[in-house]
Amino acid sequence: MSREKDNTSHKLFAEPGLDFFAKRTFLPLLISLCLMAGSCQQKNKTPEKAGIAISFDDHFIDEWYTLRPLFQKYDAKVTFFITCGDSLKKDEIEKLKQLQTDGHEIGFHGTIHGKSTELIAHGVGKYVETELTPGMKWMAEAGFNPTSYAHPGGNHDAQVDSVLLASGFKILRDVAISRRVFRGIPLYTLAPRIMDWIYYKFDQESVVDALLIDQDSEITESEIKDAIIKARESNTALMVFGHEPLYAKPVNGEYGFNVSFLETILKEAKAQNLKFYTMTELVETGTSTK
Ligand SMILES: [Zn+2]
Repeated sequence: MSREKDNTSHKLFAEPGLDFFAKRTFLPLLISLCLMAGSCQQKNKTPEKAGIAISFDDHFIDEWYTLRPLFQKYDAKVTFFITCGDSLKKDEIEKLKQLQTDGHEIGFHGTIHGKSTELIAHGVGKYVETELTPGMKWMAEAGFNPTSYAHPGGNHDAQVDSVLLASGFKILRDVAISRRVFRGIPLYTLAPRIMDWIYYKFDQESVVDALLIDQDSEITESEIKDAIIKARESNTALMVFGHEPLYAKPVNGEYGFNVSFLETILKEAKAQNLKFYTMTELVETGTSTK
């Protein structure tokens, strides 16, 4: 050791005892502890982007608004896709503004909630002026500028998609169903864990599918928990959606999800340290990857 270096070391550690301790014991110990902590963190760390994107469709603005405390409890951000066939009421605008201020996204779900493939068969112009222009005008007048779109009834084709993307929507959401029943006969059942297309891979994909979580989807808690774990393990974002918040079995044509099931999802996502994404954030996070 050079004399100069030795002097510097004595300036830092005036006590010879401390100098010895620091050199021989403390520093190696500190380094070992750091390495150990690093490897433990690595093992349990949730991948950087792993997350969940929850959305809700149609026009249940009052009902969704009552979920605010639940979203706040889990620091959750979601997307509301609004069907807007008429001007929004003052009260609805205030509620949507508050939800937006809370960090949620306000997306668009059509003016007449029509079958887009049938509407577009009469011409692109007809489709745009029937399904897009009036509702977007009402939304704009209320102060909203939706950048995400959910296909009404999950109906679309490549032409519809190209019109929507050209109209400025950054992401288009379709419907994925894990069980299909026809006239009481089960046609297929898929575990959400293996439905690859409901996981956003942050590849800037703008046409995506979300898993229906309404009560008639019959998805179990263990299936959805497995799906959440898969998102964590694969560093993807699980996409799910529902309609009206319900507190019992649907009656009189109601369609929606059980609020306690939504809470299971929020709780598990939080426990797995997943990020909550709004739909436009999915595609925007894709463009800013490292
Ligand atoms: Zn709908």
